[in-house]
Amino acid sequence: MQGCTAPLISFTPVDNSLSSLKNCQAYINTGMEIATNVALDLLETGCDADDVESMEPVMLEYAAMDRDLNQYIHAAEEIVRKLKRDPPERVPDLLALVKERYSELQSKNAQADLKKNDRFIQFKEQLREMRRQMGVSQDETTEETFEDVDEDIAVTQSQLNLICPITQVQMTNPVKNKVCGHTYQKDAIENMIQNSQLKKKKTRCPKIGCDHADIKIADLIPDIALKRAIDIQNKQKK
Ligand SMILES: [Zn+2]
Repeated sequence: MQGCTAPLISFTPVDNSLSSLKNCQAYINTGMEIATNVALDLLETGCDADDVESMEPVMLEYAAMDRDLNQYIHAAEEIVRKLKRDPPERVPDLLALVKERYSELQSKNAQADLKKNDRFIQFKEQLREMRRQMGVSQDETTEETFEDVDEDIAVTQSQLNLICPITQVQMTNPVKNKVCGHTYQKDAIENMIQNSQLKKKKTRCPKIGCDHADIKIADLIPDIALKRAIDIQNKQKK
C-alpha cells in the first residue's frame, strides 16, 4: 500500500442524509403556510388584533427552524466539498467538523434576521393586504378612505389579477415571485422554468411589461391571500 495516503471515504451516506434533511424544508414551508392561513382566518372572522398577532411568534419560530436547517445543510455541504477537494490522510470526524462549522455560522445569527425570511415577509404582506381589503385601518393614521375607490374598477382589477399570465385562465394555485412581485399558476411557471433549464436558458417573467429575466423556483412563494380570494369566489359561484 505504498504511496496510498488518502483513505477512500464514501460520501454516499452523507449525501443521502443531506437529501432527507432537505425534505424537512417542505414541512417547514407547510407549517408556515398553515400559520399564515390561521392568521388570515382569525382576521377574517373578526378576532382582535392581539389574536392575529399571536401568529407572528409562531412564524418567527418556523423562520428560525428554516435558518438552522439551511445553516446545517450549508455547513455539511461545505465540509464535504472541502474533503472531496483535499482528501485528508486519516478518516476525519465528519460530524465534529460539521458541528464546528455550524456553530461558527450560528454565532453570527441575529434575531432580527428572522424577519427577513421570505415567508415571514409574505405573511406580513398578506395580513396587510387582507386588512386593506376589509377596510381595517393599519395604523393610527389611516392612509386612504375607501369611499373614493370606484367599485367597478376595483372588481375588474381583482378579476384580472386572478388570471395567470401563462395559462390565461384563472389560477387555482397561485405563487408569487418574490423578485418582481408577479403571480402565476404554480405548475405552469414550474413547467416553464424546467423547460428553460432543459434548454440551458433563463426564464423571463411572462407578465407583459416585466423586465425580470431570471425566475428561479426558489423565488416562488405560495400566494395564500390570493388563493383564499379565488376559493371564496369559486364558492360564491356555486
Ligand atoms: Zn414579473
